[in-house]
Amino acid sequence: MQITQSKDLFNKAKNFIPGGVNSPVRAFRAVGGDPIFIKKADGAFIYDEDDNAYIELINSWGPMILGHNHPMIREAVIKAMENGTSFGAPTAREVEIAELIVAMVPSVEKVRMVNSGTEATMSAIRVARGFTGRDKFIKMEGHYHGHGDSFLISAGSGAITMGNPDSPGVTKGTAKDTLLAPYNDLEAIETLVEANKGEIAALILEPVPGNMGLVIPKEGYLQGLRDICDREGIVLIFDEVMTGFRLSKGGAQELFGVTPDMTTLGKIIGGGMPVGAYGGKKEIMEFVSPAGPVYQAGTLSGNPIAMAAGLTMLNYLNDHDEVYTQLNQIGGKIVAGIRSSLEGLGLDYTVNHLGSMYSLFFTNSKVTDFASAKHSDTALFGKYFQSMLRQGVYLAPSQFESLFLSTALSDQLIGKILEANNVALKEIHQ
Ligand SMILES: *Cc1c(COP(=O)(O)O)cnc(C)c1O
Repeated sequence: MQITQSKDLFNKAKNFIPGGVNSPVRAFRAVGGDPIFIKKADGAFIYDEDDNAYIELINSWGPMILGHNHPMIREAVIKAMENGTSFGAPTAREVEIAELIVAMVPSVEKVRMVNSGTEATMSAIRVARGFTGRDKFIKMEGHYHGHGDSFLISAGSGAITMGNPDSPGVTKGTAKDTLLAPYNDLEAIETLVEANKGEIAALILEPVPGNMGLVIPKEGYLQGLRDICDREGIVLIFDEVMTGFRLSKGGAQELFGVTPDMTTLGKIIGGGMPVGAYGGKKEIMEFVSPAGPVYQAGTLSGNPIAMAAGLTMLNYLNDHDEVYTQLNQIGGKIVAGIRSSLEGLGLDYTVNHLGSMYSLFFTNSKVTDFASAKHSDTALFGKYFQSMLRQGVYLAPSQFESLFLSTALSDQLIGKILEANNVALKEIHQ
């Protein structure tokens, strides 16, 4: 495999773009080496600027659940383009997609479209604060909700102390209203709630977190959060930017049968275009401007091209339950193959898996929260990643990310992935 164009482009990019990339994880810093620059993608494959082909296990961090360049979505976009690219005024398609989202996602009675997951979570927190008249909110350690200031917070020294800014530029004033808790630990939530009685507007989490690697909620955990929030008048927000329309057509909330008050969406909802959304109970969403007093707006929100892609994607998923059966089978085969190749090798590992998401952690302990995820051997993961890449399999370039499978993965390609995995594991074991 020859990689020269990507290297040249990266060197040039660093002169003009901070770190050479428009989003940090793309720079491969967590795995070493230089990023590959992508020229095109189709079905299960992406192609770099040197025309090397890679089997896709990230799929643009989730959106391409049907594989890349799906003809149905491509055609919807081209057709929409013929009528102009942006109006900044309401369109029929926005009504149609809102109605569809309400039908698909159990918690959503009304929905507002935005342009990214980051905007969705920032707005949801603002609305929850406006609705409750409270300032603080709880987030989980290791969960990612985009780059809004109030989410870039790390845990303080004690369980009931306020958070610390996790990035320069985030003020201590902002950090003091974000409370941090470990995932999968109801006791920790009770402690926080007790120490901040009547002051907590919202509890936001990834119901099935994928941003510290994939972690599965313990039995009864999500329902336990629901019960605490009901008791305390706290708005429960599921950030389903990753899991929405992926774990089932109604997301993690449908799969686990726990309905939050608000939900944030992104990734798949745009069919590969920049789209996010937040929605929830009518009485909460009625607080959003112009129906209510909480301000939130967007020049390009509900963009007609983006809505055409998203609507086509969601309509397809809504009409094709078999997509989820197929994704579960694909995920099951890959994970079973990886587990069997690891048996008896003597490597420390844990595989977390749900449907079309999985993570292979190089650690001997179970991974149930951020602290246990951080036990992983990230240097070993970097070697595994590089070996897979050399063999033409494109993984997320960090130990702390989930992989996202698509329906474009045929049995033959699954075989190739598992062959590459065998070679990679042997290589790193030496
Ligand atoms: C990707 C992601 C976001 C941020 O979405 P962007 O579109 O990148 O702003 C928020 N929450 C979760 C759970 C995500 O996975």
